[in-house]
Amino acid sequence: MKLTLLLAALVAALPLPAAALRALIIDGQNNHDFKSTTPHLKKVLEDTGLFTVDIATTPAKGGDMTTFKPAFKNYRVLISNYSGQPWPQETQDAFVAFVKNGGGFVSVHAADNAFAQWPDYNEMIGIGGWEGRNEKSGPYLRLRDGKFVHDPTAGRGGSHGQQHAFVLDTRVPEHPIMAGLPAQWLHAKDELYDRLRGPAKNVTVLASALSTKESGGSGEHEPLLMVIPFGQGRVFHTALGHNNGKDLTAQKCVGFITTFQRGTEWAATGKVTQKVPTDFPTADKVSLRE
Ligand code: ZN
Repeated sequence: MKLTLLLAALVAALPLPAAALRALIIDGQNNHDFKSTTPHLKKVLEDTGLFTVDIATTPAKGGDMTTFKPAFKNYRVLISNYSGQPWPQETQDAFVAFVKNGGGFVSVHAADNAFAQWPDYNEMIGIGGWEGRNEKSGPYLRLRDGKFVHDPTAGRGGSHGQQHAFVLDTRVPEHPIMAGLPAQWLHAKDELYDRLRGPAKNVTVLASALSTKESGGSGEHEPLLMVIPFGQGRVFHTALGHNNGKDLTAQKCVGFITTFQRGTEWAATGKVTQKVPTDFPTADKVSLRE
């Protein structure tokens, strides 16, 4: 056997490299079916070969939250699929320290409804909705002359029209999360969050979608994929990914999957090594992955 063939055979026989990035998905309370979405999000991350994924589940609503103390420091990136009761102060402090010291954080859909009264959390997500948010929570982000700017107009924080498929517009094509993605892509049927508001400090809007009045929306281009620096850490905020019971259509969209996979890698490391998949949606064609 020639040496090159021998080497090729040896390489083929080696096990795949162990996924190096440890990720933790947090769930336990949510007005969405986290029992369906958490396993889906875990699989989607593991499919990249980059992550090993654990799950930290809080007590159910009304339970004894004092027991919820995950070891955040054992991870590179935390993913919130949580919206519910406040965590214990010690856990809140550990979470803030984790991100401030260079950890990654990913907020998925209704995770941006959580913790309206927690200033550091709101700074991390940039903007959020519901749970009493209004002009006191901070401005809206509004697209004016090609840039997202603060709009302090009084009004509710968080709303949405009827669910439908809608086009995402890439706003920062050179960002590692967006590099190589099409300028426009049709996202599968989802809730299009509108009128989110918050501190909105240093938010880079990576992608937005027009929330039409006809669909019951705001008539504005709504920020839906964002990155926010927090201390030495990085936050990726995806407002996409509604699920209704066990209907995971919005999260099976290859656009959701790809931006979630890439956003989580970027939050963990500051880089994206993943290629754009060949089944990525186009401007006029939804792409679902089962
Ligand atoms: Zn929803």
